[in-house]
Amino acid sequence: MNCPFCGEIMAEGTFHDRGDSYFLPAGETPPKLWTRGVLEKKRAVILPPESFGAPFAPRPAAFWCGKCRKLLVDYGELLPPTP
Ligand SMILES: [Zn+2]
Repeated sequence: MNCPFCGEIMAEGTFHDRGDSYFLPAGETPPKLWTRGVLEKKRAVILPPESFGAPFAPRPAAFWCGKCRKLLVDYGELLPPTP
């Protein structure tokens, strides 16, 4: 894959974290109470895996641009399609 910002070829791999990560849209404040309901109310996109069993859960494919230092993470295989 080529970087959508600079066009360089991106390094392919997988993205690893400890689970329970989420994307928060601009304008929303990070919640103090981190529950699914609160995150959904804030329009957060909850990203797999959940922290329980995270070391063994499948990881999303990822592409890294060393020039821009940008990471593109593909959750297409791990999240259900949007209705
Ligand atoms: Zn780039």
